[in-house]
Order: sequence, then structure tokens, then C-alpha cells
Amino acid sequence: MKKVLLLDIHNHPINICSWKRALILLMKGKAENARKLNDIESMIRVENQLIPRVIKLTYELAVPYKELPFCRENILVRDEFVCQYCGKKFPASELTLDHVFPKSRLGPDIWENIVACCKECNQKKADRTPKEARMKLLRRPYRPKDYLLFELKKYPESIVRYWRAFFNISPLQA
Ligand SMILES: [Zn+2]
Repeated sequence: MKKVLLLDIHNHPINICSWKRALILLMKGKAENARKLNDIESMIRVENQLIPRVIKLTYELAVPYKELPFCRENILVRDEFVCQYCGKKFPASELTLDHVFPKSRLGPDIWENIVACCKECNQKKADRTPKEARMKLLRRPYRPKDYLLFELKKYPESIVRYWRAFFNISPLQA
């Protein structure tokens, strides 16, 4: 996974881009190596090129606010592929989405009402609220706030470890 973290001119993370995009920005002088040092560890090798894992824009850019798409994949990532009722981890294919307040009773399709749920728990809960079904939610479903911080969850630790320092977060938070 050859991805590069892009910072704005003030060193705030603004995007995760492909190495190709990073290379173009570097060649056009629109970005530079954010680390200011050329240690091999912090570079990705692609086709005889060394590309920094973190680059920084050389000019001021106003980045529009990006809303995290509300979709199945992102809900599963938010819930870390853990059924929010029994607490067990499952592969994506074995998880369903549960409307906490049942859809049949007009429970809305919003971040705050949808959780990852295994098939067994889904069947058990059926068209009831957690209280009616006497099933406890692991945590209250929420709308993730920071788009990029959320995107980090989709990348392996082997990559994120090079980026983490730029987010001011500890390994436990990520
Ligand atoms: Zn379950």
C-alpha cells in the first residue's frame, strides 16, 4: 500500500494520496518532503524513485470540509468489525447493520442509529429496541468527527506509524 500523507503548509494533515499524486506534487514544486531528512526509513521506494511517506504543500490551500460518507463500510470500520451486542469480532461478510431503534418503526438511517451486528444477534433482537430485547449496546453509536483521523483506521499500523506524529495522537487513540 503505497500511500502518502499530505500536510498543508501549516503541517496539518489534509489528505492521504497515492504515491503517483505525491510524485506529481513534488515534481511541480507544489510539495516537499515534510520530514526534511532523507532517511530511507521514511521513504517509499517505487520504480527506482524514493518518495517521502509524508509531504507538505509549499503553498496556502483552503481545504473544504469533507463529510465522512455514511455507508456500510464506514460503519463497520467505526465499530471495528465488532458486533455491538455480543462484542465478538467478525469478518465483514458475517456482519449486518442493525437499526438500534427498529427500521420497521421508522428508526432513521443515521450514524447514531446504525451499528455493526452479527447475524445471530440481529435475529435475536429482531424488530425490537435493545431494551425490549434485553440486549445491551457496547457503546452509543456516533458520527465520526474527523474525516482523516477516521480514514487512518483503514490503514495498517506499518503505514500509520510514519504518519501518527503529524496527528498528535497516541497509538491507543488510533
Ligand atoms: Zn453478536
